[in-house]
Amino acid sequence: MQSKIVLLPGDGIGPEVVQQGVRVLQSIASKFGHHFEFSEHLIGGIAIDETGDALPNSTIVACKSSEAILLGAVGGPKWDDPNAKTRPEAGLLKIRKELGLFANLRPIVTFAELLDSSPLKREIIEGTDILFFRELTGGLYFGPSGLEELPDGQQRAFSTAVYTTSEVERIVRMAAQAALKRRNKLTMVDKANVLEASRLWRRVSARIMKEEFPALEYEVVLVDSMAMHLLSRPTSFDVVVTSNMFGDILTDEASMLPGSLGMLPSASLGSSGPGLYEPIHGSAPDIAGKGIANPLATILAAAMLLRHSLGLENEAVSIETAVRSVLAAGHRTADLVRRGQPSLGTIEITDHVLKALVA
Ligand code: NAD
Repeated sequence: MQSKIVLLPGDGIGPEVVQQGVRVLQSIASKFGHHFEFSEHLIGGIAIDETGDALPNSTIVACKSSEAILLGAVGGPKWDDPNAKTRPEAGLLKIRKELGLFANLRPIVTFAELLDSSPLKREIIEGTDILFFRELTGGLYFGPSGLEELPDGQQRAFSTAVYTTSEVERIVRMAAQAALKRRNKLTMVDKANVLEASRLWRRVSARIMKEEFPALEYEVVLVDSMAMHLLSRPTSFDVVVTSNMFGDILTDEASMLPGSLGMLPSASLGSSGPGLYEPIHGSAPDIAGKGIANPLATILAAAMLLRHSLGLENEAVSIETAVRSVLAAGHRTADLVRRGQPSLGTIEITDHVLKALVA
């Protein structure tokens, strides 16, 4: 298979971890006889420095003509000035809109070897395997918002959660299709007891499930209860679908289950066109340039890229198996060990993944 993959390393540890993702993809290409053509483009703070724009047009054009995109991270203290004309994160929001990436998939899987790195009890988290679908281009983060001065000197601010029937249909359908390939259970999370937008989600979702996926087990959970259930019974969930803001908060909460940000990948998908794959962590300015960042989230994002954008399931599984075997052999980066214990650097742990891939 021949595929064009765009690399958007971004800022901080982004370039360090993306480079390791590329090494793994190159190894997969030679093992399975594929040809991946990589091209690197600007996003985030480095793009602001070089072009004045967090997402230059040349990046958008390259992404649109690719099959998939591997992103590192954007942002850092250098670009944090609240009065700045543009911010690195603007590049992320814009690329999602430009490519119509309405679904953010975040797998939350605990690794047996890392159970003790989690702040939660082993017996609660063992066996957790959840796939979140967070709606990414609608709701509270994109609806009308404003700020006004009141005559009495106060300010009044508002943000509005807006969804249409088709926006709910497409993400619920995508999540249900994923559940069919997993353990046949879909949980929809909303706040229908209070919010009109959630009541639309509930009606549309129930109809799609009844008409198109009658065989799936389907449950509805209020977002406040879900925040508790995620910590008390995470193994009871398979696929979870929810709106933009609820997904933002719940997926960060869920990221604590496996124990380290450095292990979690995510994918953003539209109905067609390239998908965007990235680790969920940020640019980690505190460790950038030290060679100690954990590249495994990015390597696992590369596995998602193979699975979801290139349809290469066996290749994806072989990366995931290699990562598990490296952890099983006891290899760890600094974020996965107690302070002072020996650990491997970014390149060294990837060397072990590469060895496991060809073994
Ligand atoms: P962060 O995820 O960058 O870092 C949080 C902590 O986790 C830090 O101590 C960091 O060293 C550690 N960490 C993160 N990734 C790691 C890895 N792969 N290996 C080892 N340790 C790792 O979050 P933050 O510090 O809140 O944000 C830093 C910058 O990143 C900010 O500018 C923020 O806006 C940006 N950010 C970007 C994204 C993105 O690009 N998608 C996401 C979140 C934050």
